[in-house]
Amino acid sequence: MSNNETVDRPVNFIRNIINDDLANHKHEQVHTRFPPEPNGYLHIGHAKSICLNFGLAEDYKGLCNLRFDDTNPAKEDMEYVDSIKQDVQWLGFQWAGDICYSSNYFDQFYAYATELIEKGLAYVCFLNSEESREYRGSLKEPGKDSPCRDTSVEENLALFSKMKNGEFKEGECVLRAKIDMASSFMCMRDPTLYRVRFETHHQTGDKWCIYPMYDFAHCISDAIEHITHSLCTLEFQDNRRLYDWVLDHLDDFSKPDRPHQYEFSRLNLEYTVMSKRKLHQLVDDKLVEGWNDPRMPTISGMRRRGYTPASIRDFAERIGISKVDSMTEMGILEAAVRDDLNKVAPRSMAVLDPIKLVIENYESEPEVLMAPIHPQNEEMGKREILFGREVYIDRADFTEVAPNGKFMRLALDKEVRLRNAYVIKGVRAEYDADGNVTTVYCTYDPDTHGKNPADGRKVKGVIHFVEASKAIPAEFRLYDRLFTVENPAKEDDFESVINPESLTIKNGFVEPGLLNSEPEKAYQFEREGYFCRDNQSVDKQIYNRTVALRDTWSAK
Ligand code: ATP
Ligand code: MG
Repeated sequence: MSNNETVDRPVNFIRNIINDDLANHKHEQVHTRFPPEPNGYLHIGHAKSICLNFGLAEDYKGLCNLRFDDTNPAKEDMEYVDSIKQDVQWLGFQWAGDICYSSNYFDQFYAYATELIEKGLAYVCFLNSEESREYRGSLKEPGKDSPCRDTSVEENLALFSKMKNGEFKEGECVLRAKIDMASSFMCMRDPTLYRVRFETHHQTGDKWCIYPMYDFAHCISDAIEHITHSLCTLEFQDNRRLYDWVLDHLDDFSKPDRPHQYEFSRLNLEYTVMSKRKLHQLVDDKLVEGWNDPRMPTISGMRRRGYTPASIRDFAERIGISKVDSMTEMGILEAAVRDDLNKVAPRSMAVLDPIKLVIENYESEPEVLMAPIHPQNEEMGKREILFGREVYIDRADFTEVAPNGKFMRLALDKEVRLRNAYVIKGVRAEYDADGNVTTVYCTYDPDTHGKNPADGRKVKGVIHFVEASKAIPAEFRLYDRLFTVENPAKEDDFESVINPESLTIKNGFVEPGLLNSEPEKAYQFEREGYFCRDNQSVDKQIYNRTVALRDTWSAK
């Protein structure tokens, strides 16, 4: 495929722009970037942006950078840098060349700020924060010029150099662009370009005590890296004017092929929160186990829960790219993972809430039976399971008296098939002091393995089981929505609408074949859902439920 051919994907407005830019030779190769601030873990919203940026680069045989927009050392940390790299690679993407850091360009930012001062387009301002707020005006009223606006170029150069040399305190002064205090875009009212911060930076140490503002650094970083299409979310629409102003006034970048920004709508997902500030709060207030809690919308949480890279990429494709703000249903995300796991997950049996069955006419030692690993895909082969005199079934699969003709599970004097094994019939049950079933006694029909009863009796129900003597005790963690309302971010106190039943723990059994199951590898536990072994407690048998087999939520 040549660079100028379109690819077989749903069209969106960004692809249309790229197609035009390539056709008109505005650019010969697409170059995008994913620019996180390393101040938290990535979430599913970031995944949308990652899939878009890296996906376009892949489809158009272009390049995509991973750039840390690390201009605010107070909130950043190497822990976040490392987790972001890991998450991007886990999603299946590889950045072009070395990882980029805005902090690599600190010398250049300083030189470009100096160029603006020399052109009379930036000045050092000594208004305190209260005064600057007052001078800024409001959406209804224009702002007022700072008294420092007319300082001479020579003096501004000297003052900026003093800022750099640590001769001013934090908050004492800032470098501002000289644009237009009456602009209807607030971001154009002489925005701050540089501030004083005596902070140690995770990449540059103590070399700097002035740091560029995000808006100044972001557009220049894109230009330095020759990014062709700077893609970001809609809240940066107004800021585009400032980015264009900065680049237009720097000799190196006032060229037609400089980066152009295009905005798309961010992902909002029902029943969760996506702001990094709120996710931080959940972690800090210990309302979840950490950033990788399987209920979190973080990539690391979803990975731990059993989401696959393919399912997240497919989800990004399903929701598409537009400029319309909307709320995405959780069901779309869950359908994507279900569709992927249905194809790839080996089948297995697990009993989450066990009661014991004793099969009274089964006298011998447990026997090995063969069961398909995937009933729709014979190529995946077969697995060994055990059947014996004692097996576990799920409590919900037994009732003494079947409520109506349609009860497809076990009852006294009724027949049901044990999945992959024989037809059994309930004989009598034993109960504990509270009236809960402890043991059900049954008989089995030895002539029903892999075939219907010879006399033509119809046995409709099928339930799953695990043979008791070799069953492996396991913990099952069942997850539900983290919040009880569709849009928790709208609440005054979003922590007050956390779902108290977002985690249910069950103790039961899995097949012996799962003794060495790999963390994160998906299994379909028949009739129970998709599960994977927890990646944080690999020495224990703990399984996280990724998603139930059917969408029971939208029915609620
Ligand atoms: P912050 O409040 O810290 O700025 P952020 O979510 O904007 O949080 P960034 O690290 O700046 O975090 O985001 C990196 C990239 O991911 C940006 O280009 C941003 O537009 C994009 N992004 C962030 N959240 C979403 C979302 N919900 N949907 C789509 N893209 C997103
Ligand atoms: Mg941001």
